[in-house]
Amino acid sequence: MNFKNITVAGSGVLGSQIAFQTAYKGFNVSVYDISDEALAKAKERITNLKPYYQKDLGTTDEEFEEGFKRLSFYSNLGEAVKDADLVIEAIPEVTKIKTPFYEELGKVAPEKTLFVTNSSTLLPSQFAEATGRPGKFLALHFANEIWKNNTAEVMKHPGTEQANFDHVMEFAKAIGMVALPLQKEQPGYILNSLLVPFLDAAELLLVKEVSDAHTIDKTWMIATGAPMGPFAILDVVGITTAYNIVQTKAEATGKEEFKQLVELLKTEYIDKGKLGRETGEGFYKYPNPAFMEKDFLK
Ligand code: NAD
Repeated sequence: MNFKNITVAGSGVLGSQIAFQTAYKGFNVSVYDISDEALAKAKERITNLKPYYQKDLGTTDEEFEEGFKRLSFYSNLGEAVKDADLVIEAIPEVTKIKTPFYEELGKVAPEKTLFVTNSSTLLPSQFAEATGRPGKFLALHFANEIWKNNTAEVMKHPGTEQANFDHVMEFAKAIGMVALPLQKEQPGYILNSLLVPFLDAAELLLVKEVSDAHTIDKTWMIATGAPMGPFAILDVVGITTAYNIVQTKAEATGKEEFKQLVELLKTEYIDKGKLGRETGEGFYKYPNPAFMEKDFLK
């Protein structure tokens, strides 16, 4: 891997984190977004990362500034990718936005440029043809708060060339991630293939009134030694996201138990403003949730 110049397309929640982390680790980063207004917001988002880097990584003011100086900002795609070795796409999770983006990118990017998508739910094979260079395209999926939740799931689609997959694995390590290879395309990657069914199973025990949230968590924690149970995890994910996932499932399957779960999450949690850790209450009350008390596991 001889990557020097990286372009991050889309500078929202994840794009701004990816751009800064990449610059912080010494790469030149071009940030692309659709308007100067969006770019101004990105600069603000990136500046707001500073206290987190200081607290979590012990970053100094100087180190943060040096990282920031390696960023440049563009609202013209051709200029943003002019010298790019790699383009990391983090634009909205909407097929109708991503497909035309890749069609244009494929035309304006140099021949050498690799493309990766950070999409959480859309598969790279959906966009491989639109890129015009399927062999140089794959997924590189980060987690929110990438400076500390540093997983990078690197996933092929059937047309990805092995050498390019290897380059992206190496790049992910170079920016401080733990690179996790997925040799085959898998909806949900590794993490969500495990996590979503696990959380569903816990929520169904609750809605069927088999047991209560704290008892379910306690069972999991004692039996496996895990530091958190499924409902504590749901509080971190956020009840709104959990609700959206369950609602999609209720519509897709028509199953009564999912419909009841939608209703439960809405009336008992969302309508009462209990949206999880961020709002101070979900299945637990924060900042001192019951599952962290020393008697919880007794
Ligand atoms: P976001 O809505 O915060 O940001 C999207 C950005 O893309 C905005 O700045 C927007 O102006 C810009 N944009 C819109 N259309 C564009 C276009 N045509 N070209 C360039 N930029 C455009 O979204 P996000 O949460 O950062 O998610 C982005 C991608 O990252 C999605 O594919 C999502 O699945 C994935 N992802 C998100 C998270 C998360 O926790 N938010 C985690 C992992 C992966």
